[in-house]
Amino acid sequence: MQGFGETIFAEMSALAVRTGSINLGQGFPDEDGPRAVLDTAVEAIRTGANQYPPGPGLPELREAVAAQRLGRYGLSYDPAAEVFVTVGATEGIAASVLALAGPGDEVIVFEPYYDSYAAVIALAGAVRRPVTLRPAGGRFTFDPEELRAAVGPRTRAVLVNSPHNPAGTVFTRDELEAIAGVCREHDLVAITDEVYEYLTFDGTEHIPLATLDGMRDRTVSVSSAGKSFSVTGWKTGWVTAPAPHIRAVQTVKQFLTYAVNAPYQRAAAYALANELAWVEELRTSLQAKRDRLITGLEAAGFTAYRPQGTYFVQADIRPLGFTDGIELTRALPEKAGVVAIPTQVFYDHAEAGAHFVRFAFCKKDEVIDEAVERLARLGARA
Ligand SMILES: *Cc1c(COP(=O)(O)O)cnc(C)c1O
Repeated sequence: MQGFGETIFAEMSALAVRTGSINLGQGFPDEDGPRAVLDTAVEAIRTGANQYPPGPGLPELREAVAAQRLGRYGLSYDPAAEVFVTVGATEGIAASVLALAGPGDEVIVFEPYYDSYAAVIALAGAVRRPVTLRPAGGRFTFDPEELRAAVGPRTRAVLVNSPHNPAGTVFTRDELEAIAGVCREHDLVAITDEVYEYLTFDGTEHIPLATLDGMRDRTVSVSSAGKSFSVTGWKTGWVTAPAPHIRAVQTVKQFLTYAVNAPYQRAAAYALANELAWVEELRTSLQAKRDRLITGLEAAGFTAYRPQGTYFVQADIRPLGFTDGIELTRALPEKAGVVAIPTQVFYDHAEAGAHFVRFAFCKKDEVIDEAVERLARLGARA
């Protein structure tokens, strides 16, 4: 793990605390999830959900996940053999990569990539093959030729995050079809990170890769309660996949953590079954916050990309006279009292992302307003 130092989120959050800055870096909401979900967790602790639950997860959560995949996407999974509970999506992805890729195998990722992907591919002894997302027509997308060229004889898997953090892209059916085509042609497994499955904007539809022709049997789908229900500290996630893939994931996961916290599993099952109307309100509110932040960033002089989903806006810093996002984000607390994340750290081809910074909008309106007011001084001074 040499080369994987402190994560950028830890560095920037510490900087925010040290300088008293507004933290639009790390993506966690500053308002908690639905009261009844929180109460279910409390009640679960009071009524005995305090010892090791079954390794694959509480049956009630596995059944709720199977019902959600079927009801929302028409994907049918056997809760007893094809649904598996993990310590957040992070462990679901880690166990999947460790189960499916070994030393020297290659895993395709779309850069900028979520930071845990690079680390867990390295833990597996595997090699990441990045395909770059670039702005085109106001959103970040990839060149299907570049994707095809990334496949080699050692390629085992493609890691697909949609809605995509940090680019904000929700892959279209055509983009997913290009990925599915490569998987079918080269017999690859797809590992999908769908933690923002509900948080899409302007009517954009989240399409799970597993719903495409021939993909259910070669896709390991990962999601979690954290983003959908504003409980990111609960670290309760799940994997849905064909039984042989689940057995492989379970073989790894049982020695990482063995089981997942019991009380939050009960609460997550309750949330999936009862709180989707609340999630729709969250979605609407996040879309308004996105627009609020973008209006402010544009007024401050940034070029902002309007994301189709997630918590994040990508901003191009060049119109303000800056070229290096790492330099700017390290100086930003001093210059403006705001913390953001340099997108560059999520690329292998750093030059492709050097001039982007990521701002989170899952914050109270008054926090966003204060942040953009401060950022407006940046242009005045530059
Ligand atoms: C937040 C996030 C995760 C982590 O999810 P947990 O359930 O908290 O482990 C994984 N992938 C992406 C893209 C995320 O933004």
